Amino acid sequence: MRQSIQRLEDQILETCSKNGRKRDEVKLVAVSKTKPIYLIEEAYAAGLRIFAESRAQEFRDKVNSLYADIEWHFIGHLQRNKIKYVATSSALIHSVDTLMLAEALSDYATTKAIEVPILLEVNTSAEPAKFGVHPDQAQEVYLRVQQLPGLKLKGLMTIAPFVSEEKQIRKSFSDLRKLKDQIMAHLTDQSNFELSMGMSQDFQWAIAEGSTIIRVGTALFGAREAF
Ligand SMILES: *Cc1c(COP(=O)(O)O)cnc(C)c1O
Repeated sequence: MRQSIQRLEDQILETCSKNGRKRDEVKLVAVSKTKPIYLIEEAYAAGLRIFAESRAQEFRDKVNSLYADIEWHFIGHLQRNKIKYVATSSALIHSVDTLMLAEALSDYATTKAIEVPILLEVNTSAEPAKFGVHPDQAQEVYLRVQQLPGLKLKGLMTIAPFVSEEKQIRKSFSDLRKLKDQIMAHLTDQSNFELSMGMSQDFQWAIAEGSTIIRVGTALFGAREAF
């Protein structure tokens, strides 16, 4: 575990410096979905404090059985009836993929008198099998979600298309970056707009294209069983 963390850290650092970016501009989120508690404990012992899960019950169970100073992120498709497992203990929900889900989260947050930090997920590759708002609608949805009480909308998230071609993958990241620029022109608060993009296979390209949060599972914990 220490070795894979070190290797990843070296790669992140090198990619940052190659692209004129500072290491602290890119947050590493360790994706621990499907992985057992003991592996998360190992990663924690090696210094990692930010973990992400993509299934609501698994998220809740791991939050309850692990250290209180872990920052938990939620990155999976969230059904409205499972908001209660996730909303209170998430430092960030990356995967708000419809206006309807945002509204349901807003209702929940208002009832509980909490503020839920979220990102809007954009389907940059427009693959029908993927979740996320269509890029053409992203700005409009973003500005509407921003008005909803109980939510703190902090930026955009995307998952690159499942292809091996660098050009296609980078395009989905640069498209998200362009959306950020478009949307920011309409915002009064221009600080800290997050771009959650980049996974084990493509985080270097994502950093080159302006990512501020990378979500890395396999490169840290090894391959997952079919999921
Ligand atoms: C599983 C997952 C990741 C991590 O993917 P790896 O290829 O294992 O690094 C990142 N983001 C999301 C949304 C995921 O579901």
